[in-house]
Amino acid sequence: MKEKFWIIVISIVLVIVYAVDYKLDKANYKEEDLIKTIKSRGYLIVGVKTDTRPFGYLENGKNVGFDIDIAKYIAKDILHNPNKIKFVQVTPSNRLYLLNVQDVDMVIATMTITPERRNIISFSKPYFVAGQAVLVSSRSNIKSLADLDNKNVGVLYGSTAEKNIRLIIPSVNIIGYKTYHDAYSALKAGKIVAITSDDTILRHYALSDSSVKLLPKRYTRELYAIGIRKNQESKGLLKVVNMNITNMVNDGTLTKLKRKWKLN
Ligand code: GLU
Repeated sequence: MKEKFWIIVISIVLVIVYAVDYKLDKANYKEEDLIKTIKSRGYLIVGVKTDTRPFGYLENGKNVGFDIDIAKYIAKDILHNPNKIKFVQVTPSNRLYLLNVQDVDMVIATMTITPERRNIISFSKPYFVAGQAVLVSSRSNIKSLADLDNKNVGVLYGSTAEKNIRLIIPSVNIIGYKTYHDAYSALKAGKIVAITSDDTILRHYALSDSSVKLLPKRYTRELYAIGIRKNQESKGLLKVVNMNITNMVNDGTLTKLKRKWKLN
């Protein structure tokens, strides 16, 4: 009888000890901070554009542009070397996905802050302001979005312009493209009468090709920011990225970069 009593007591004590231990373990468990992971890995992984002059594009196989220089500034701060970056190509339609499946640490890709995107990812402070514009053939008599009624208009899949134009002119026949190159080729081939996207991105085409022009009106204010995952392990990185943006403003880097890439 006495033996049975002690077996029961010991069993209860063991259950309690395991339960407390498990709870402590859970409480002590912290996801590895992303900054630590980046430092031990030795390089940043940044999602960037490769078809968006002058923000992110390829020159002799190398990633260059305004967004690329921002990534380099951050890499210099975190890893003491601006070149410790692996660039991953993103498009407006896959950049949130690639961030959330952890293929990249952050996205620096002409990405506008929107409330819908804020539900899925975190945004840094804004580092640039653009506006939605319309690019048409120089011979075109289209003067504004209102003239696009029932016409074929090119947008980038997943871009803010795609959503905005559906709201502003629901009767537009929207044709989606994955890259600016594809949209531009379609405009040149007469498959679409206009492309609508950010002025700073479309301006490049108007400057380098006299057969297309950018209409003067802007329809939105697009605040570009760096996308970071919403999870606990990325909180430190978000702080560091915000600090870097503040430093870029204060030390004049942002102004210099705008001048370098002819963005002002
Ligand atoms: N800034 C716009 C957006 O975030 C479009 C630019 C882009 O092609 O990334 O949707």
